[in-house]
Amino acid sequence: MLDIKVTKTTAPKAKPDEKHLGFGNHYTDHMFIMDYTEGRGWHSPRIEPYHSLELDPAALVFHYAQECFEGMKAYRAANGRVLLFRPEKNAARMQSTHRRLCIPEIPVEDFVQAVKALVSVDKDWVPGEPDTSLYLRPFTIATEAHLGVKPSASYQFIIIASPSGAYYAEGMNPVKIYVEDEYVRATPGGTGYIKCGGNYAASLIGQMKAHDLGYSQVLWLDGVERKYVEEVGSMNCFFKIDGVIRTAPCVGTVLPGITRMSCIELLEKWGYKVDCESRLPIADVIRAGKEGKLEEVFGTGTAAVISPVGELRYEDEVLTINGFQTGPVTQRLYDTLTGIQWGTLPDDMGWTQEVE
Ligand SMILES: *Cc1c(COP(=O)(O)O)cnc(C)c1O
Repeated sequence: MLDIKVTKTTAPKAKPDEKHLGFGNHYTDHMFIMDYTEGRGWHSPRIEPYHSLELDPAALVFHYAQECFEGMKAYRAANGRVLLFRPEKNAARMQSTHRRLCIPEIPVEDFVQAVKALVSVDKDWVPGEPDTSLYLRPFTIATEAHLGVKPSASYQFIIIASPSGAYYAEGMNPVKIYVEDEYVRATPGGTGYIKCGGNYAASLIGQMKAHDLGYSQVLWLDGVERKYVEEVGSMNCFFKIDGVIRTAPCVGTVLPGITRMSCIELLEKWGYKVDCESRLPIADVIRAGKEGKLEEVFGTGTAAVISPVGELRYEDEVLTINGFQTGPVTQRLYDTLTGIQWGTLPDDMGWTQEVE
């Protein structure tokens, strides 16, 4: 158990209009901070008024990108209850990320306690309009001032919170996806399976290229042969081909999404045939599309929940999926996950935790 010291703001901010929140534009009144010092471990957990950070320009995070993050949400359910969705999974993934980046781990229960403590202090900031939530961004940065390449001797673990609207302002409409065959996101032995900023910095160029061509997201292929499908932007990607639902295996280059995991568990419970262990060649996707067997394609991630894919472009081939309509499995997953998250459906899976 952390002994969290709480200092409340004396100047609460005006709350933004819940009908026009957008994503990641507003921040709550408080933030959680905990320090790590070599020899002392993680210490001084505290909640403070939201403020800027002061770091030495030589802090290792600025030079060698020793930093990582998580993304999760707090949801306002009926009768004012506030729910988290599988927060212990984010905590465990953050541990795996820390290990890969040589950052000392934070115990799962401390991470979850910290998230709950911040949401509790800023509970009034959890919006109540349909499809809105309080997006939570835990992150860790290397703070030691040093220009040699080495793991930092000090870190800060911080959580900020942002009241956010639906990820897609116009509702859940199918998106157009560009299959990237030049740039790659992740290679075996690299950092594709963790949430570190460096992965995103390296992916911007592919994202820009897709935008310029009129596509909203990139579907990344594997980094070695550029032959197998991996993920879409910041989402895992599912394909329903001839009755079987396929998604790339999490074998080191694919981020193990908590939404992905939850979709697989629901689909198996509903009796669908799911293959999340074999790799899926892009050529098979294209062939299935031409033969009329590519039934549905969708992305999964905390921010958008489920995102139907209406069009795929690979080299000179353009496939329209399900007549550019959201498919029935895509819709059922969206309705079930959001129903559990906002507490309008019974949580049979035991996935939510209430914040007191
Ligand atoms: C965060 C993320 C996902 C989705 O993970 P969730 O836990 O479902 O939010 C997928 N791919 C990448 C690259 C990510 O960073």
